[in-house]
Amino acid sequence: MNMNLGSLFEFSANRYPNQIAVVQGQKRYTYGQLHHESSVLASSLQKLGVGKRDRVIVLMKNRVETIIAFWALQKIGAVFTPINLRMSTKDIQYCVNDVEAKMIIFEDLVRTSVLKNKYNTRPLFIGLEPEGADLTFHELLEQGKGSCERPPIDDNDLAVILYTSGTTGRPKGVPRTHKNEYASTMAHILQNNYLLFDKTLGAMPLYHTMGLHALLSVMLVLNGTYVTVPDFDAHEALRLIQEEGIHSLYMIPKMYHDMAYHPDVDRYDYSTLRTIGFAGSSMSAELIRRCQEVFRPQTFVNHYGSTEIYTFTTCSEVLQKPGCAGKPGIHQLIRVIVPNQDGSSHPDDTVSPGEIGEIIVHTDSVEAFKGYWNRPDATRKAIREGWYFTGDLGYIDEQGDLYVIGRVDEMIISGGEHIHPQEIEMILLEHPHVSQVAVVGVKDKRWGEIPVAYIVPRSQVTPQELDQFCKEHPRLASYKRPREYVFVSEIPESLTGKTLRRKLAQIEREEKEISNVLD
Ligand code: ATP
Repeated sequence: MNMNLGSLFEFSANRYPNQIAVVQGQKRYTYGQLHHESSVLASSLQKLGVGKRDRVIVLMKNRVETIIAFWALQKIGAVFTPINLRMSTKDIQYCVNDVEAKMIIFEDLVRTSVLKNKYNTRPLFIGLEPEGADLTFHELLEQGKGSCERPPIDDNDLAVILYTSGTTGRPKGVPRTHKNEYASTMAHILQNNYLLFDKTLGAMPLYHTMGLHALLSVMLVLNGTYVTVPDFDAHEALRLIQEEGIHSLYMIPKMYHDMAYHPDVDRYDYSTLRTIGFAGSSMSAELIRRCQEVFRPQTFVNHYGSTEIYTFTTCSEVLQKPGCAGKPGIHQLIRVIVPNQDGSSHPDDTVSPGEIGEIIVHTDSVEAFKGYWNRPDATRKAIREGWYFTGDLGYIDEQGDLYVIGRVDEMIISGGEHIHPQEIEMILLEHPHVSQVAVVGVKDKRWGEIPVAYIVPRSQVTPQELDQFCKEHPRLASYKRPREYVFVSEIPESLTGKTLRRKLAQIEREEKEISNVLD
């Protein structure tokens, strides 16, 4: 059977047409209805000239319309290109021009941004609301037929383009084929212990690889239910777990944090939850313990991966080995090599076990990942000799388990010594008066760079107290101690919850001279 997503979804729909596929508030859609509605939309899109390989930008929250659009585009071989609604107007313009989008489907929230931009070629504007749109989404559903033409779609045709969130610069388009999505979905199901008819909370946005994985796992194979959450709210998420009897969660650590420490967390029953997984960044040992205590899952998995290659490693012993990213995923190889910021390191330059270096990955999907959309420079940097260079730093322990400790370009070089910001952050987080922390390298005449800690205090604390804590800490060498503490009200984060260290460093450079107050 051809692994194209449209055919696989049709297969699911024909197998269990009356099974509930999507829940959004009071709305419930069966597989049969979703299949029908997506075919109707597909026929309307074809009438408007959208066909195989055409890129359609989708700027909508996780709502049933987004899911209908996803399956409609898969059926006609067009490319679902979802974009984060919180992207700047300029970045939206960049992405639309970058993929030469034929159509933009948008919701009212982003209408001004969408319409304000000038595009190289004007796409068709399809709005959820009529204002500013050429046609509305609902008009397309009213005008379409119950079936669409189905062009032949090969496994290696493009299904999706996802944009990386831009932690390391301008967003990069990552083209993904039907085969990529299918293979990674199957691996995801196995690695998480998902079961037939599982219900999942659709809280991670569908423009992110994690959100898409959650949707595909449930709908491609399991005939499960996707309880979609257009706007994430920790309390509402807790309530939905009980009300809908959710079996699995797959989210970033920040969402778990907001849920597990919510004042109303004890009001609800989470006994249906079987599997919880996280990705996007590491989870602190304290949060792992708290999630275990609150949700009591049978399976608790750390997934380390990226938009480009999906999951590199998984660890299901998060309680025993907090911070551990685990073993390579199915049919994957992981190496840790001598890190080199100028991109000249070779896949064979491996470091010894326990030594820190750059993590590189070799997998079937590296071969399938042909590179970034229109970015040969970034592609050459990321893929070399059949290996994907993650840009992440880590080490492999004696049991062959991987630990991720930061990014190559965030490594601080102070007096010739390598200092990893995350190592210091983990230690400072153990201080009872520290709520959040980010450590960055700041230029220094004497040392080259020095570590500076940005602290969101939980309660009053002085730099001297924190310095004393670091001095006495058995796991922190003295040269790694932050040379300055800056108290801030929040730590800037990327759209997916990653610490934006570079942004902190820039603010600091622009606003004040650094003085080594603790020297
Ligand atoms: P950009 O590629 O522009 O920097 P991004 O950082 O948002 O954007 P993603 O594909 O969303 O790109 O994130 C992948 C990165 O997230 C990994 O390379 C790694 O740095 C980090 N990451 C993902 N999962 C984990 C995890 N379980 N533990 C630690 N870090 C993780």
